Amino acid sequence: MLGSEVTKTHCPYCALQCGMEIGPELAISPRTDIPANGSGALCQKGWTAGELLTSGERLTAPLLYGEPVAWDAALDHVAHRLSAIRAEYGPDAVAVFGGGGLTNEKAYSLGKFARVALGTSQIDYNGRFCMSSAAAASIRAFGLDRGMPFPITDLAGADVVLLAGGNVAETMPPFVRHLDGPRLIVVDPRRTPTAKLAWLHLQPTPGTDLALALGLLHLAIADGLVDEAYVAARTTGFEEVRTSLSSWWPERVERITGVPVHQMRQAVRALAAAGKAYVLTGRGAEQHAKGTDTVTAFINLALALGLPGTLGSGYGCVTGQGNGQGGREHGQKADQLPGYRKIDDPAAREHLARVWGIPAEDIPGPGRSAYELLDALGTPEGPRALLLFGSNPVVSAPAAEHVASRIGGLDLLVACDFVLSETAALADVVFPVTQWAEEDGTMTNLEGRVLLRRRAYPPPAGVRSDLDVIAGLAERLGHRFETEPVRVFDELRRASQGGPADYSGITYERIANETGVFWPCPAPGHPGTPRPFLDRFAHPDGRARFVPVEHRPPAEVTDEDYPVHLTTGRVLAHYQSGAQTRRIAPLVRAAPEPYVELHPDLAEQLGIAAGDVVRVSSRRGESKAVARISDAIRRDTVFMPFHWEGANRLTNPALDPVSRMPEFKVCAVRVERDS
Ligand code: SF4
Repeated sequence: MLGSEVTKTHCPYCALQCGMEIGPELAISPRTDIPANGSGALCQKGWTAGELLTSGERLTAPLLYGEPVAWDAALDHVAHRLSAIRAEYGPDAVAVFGGGGLTNEKAYSLGKFARVALGTSQIDYNGRFCMSSAAAASIRAFGLDRGMPFPITDLAGADVVLLAGGNVAETMPPFVRHLDGPRLIVVDPRRTPTAKLAWLHLQPTPGTDLALALGLLHLAIADGLVDEAYVAARTTGFEEVRTSLSSWWPERVERITGVPVHQMRQAVRALAAAGKAYVLTGRGAEQHAKGTDTVTAFINLALALGLPGTLGSGYGCVTGQGNGQGGREHGQKADQLPGYRKIDDPAAREHLARVWGIPAEDIPGPGRSAYELLDALGTPEGPRALLLFGSNPVVSAPAAEHVASRIGGLDLLVACDFVLSETAALADVVFPVTQWAEEDGTMTNLEGRVLLRRRAYPPPAGVRSDLDVIAGLAERLGHRFETEPVRVFDELRRASQGGPADYSGITYERIANETGVFWPCPAPGHPGTPRPFLDRFAHPDGRARFVPVEHRPPAEVTDEDYPVHLTTGRVLAHYQSGAQTRRIAPLVRAAPEPYVELHPDLAEQLGIAAGDVVRVSSRRGESKAVARISDAIRRDTVFMPFHWEGANRLTNPALDPVSRMPEFKVCAVRVERDS
């Protein structure tokens, strides 16, 4: 009986998707059969995840303009309003915004719902704000984005790991156990808990990681460290990159980044001397208006040293959100169809048309990317209605006050959530939905391993799955959608068949029996693909691509009015916009309030003491937070965690031209003691 026995499942939070068991009385313990946390570790978010299920703030009835109503009444109202808005303004007047924490089944259903039931091109998701730059760079270099294209346990066998812009000791602590063996090189403007573990910490000025990566590769070439045999056999384009690097001599890079030449040389020599080595990137390198080029520069370095696609070495992206990998594969992105197919690929459209039973020409084309979609809401050219699933953009989007004002201009906002998040609180209609241990579903972790979350408890009375919301609305719009997760997954398998992310050989039974299955897995008897690039990369000629890229300054540089860099990130106790973790008592005790971290020299210059309330202003807004003084941050930079409303009022929505990633990681601010 549900709730009375132990169920094997996975954590509701980050992309490590630690295995856990949940039993009677919400007792949680780590599993040892899931490699990500096979040593039996969970972080404090995982240990306390049971409290999410019993939160006193759970919604248990749909809200219609703030009043509880019956499910049918809420679904009828939304369907009626959607039909009216579509009739008056056309199908693109309705937008859908998804999330990287949704199960694969929900991500798939949402994409199908947008294209088939609503006929809109206007769908994107918050994963665009997460690892889209690394995804774009991996596709450019390797022809395929599979996050970390190797099992996480491979890392422990390496001699050296370079981690650019990732703070795994706080964001996913069990990851650190995989870094016990190698020498760790960390690139980060802050001396984070991860940087403190490093053999070598390179501390560049925010917004200069790209220059640093160019400098590292320049040194590798100048010092004769390039793996010429690998480059000749497995890549193309090296000569163009070699030529493009001629002016990136180390002293110039030191002037731009602040990283001493001897440290750069130490890093490159350690990587090149290692028999086995990895280059990893996280949000610090990726969340920039040049994020795709920054990751490309680190991939170029890894390729020159002969790492990707070899046993025990490689390049990988440390994806952040729980289903950040699966969330980008099944069709909730503006430019994609299920199976990680391109939406403008005629063959992909024909395939999905057959699965969905509609003419290919009825599938809309690409829509707006996440920030562009939010920025268009309520404008004369933009959507008039927004359906929001698993996302809280009023806290998590850049220029968040502007986004809130755009949302305020909508004719209809519908939110699916299990609590009243800051964005759900603005909605005309809120549907109360199930969460992790109350429903079955698959998640694809940062390794590309497809995992099964099992239903362990019944949801509270009055609560239904997002799949029920989608199917309920689709039915009222004249379409039949599956609601059972396993049936949705079977359809997803067919939809993905033949695509880059082929799940057609994966079943719930296999996942349970094999502790996860790596995609691509194109047939029932196929073993899955833990290391997809060992024999060849995914470009038609099987070779990886070097791509020349150039450094440029951040979209916003410091000046007299805004003289300090702001960078943002996460803390151990909280996850993403904090909508979940800010409701867990032990996590709130551990990290109760927003703060701004300043160097002692900057604090003295500004007359700020630890504990003072500080006002931080940028060209987009203002935010108050408590001052923390620390020499772990550069003198020219302040840090704010983004789990509370505030940090993203300041951040810059300048977009990467390829990935459409906003520049979360650097903008210019003024810092003052609040009088
Ligand atoms: Fe593991 Fe991440 Fe959950 Fe922590 S939040 S227990 S690291 S999956």
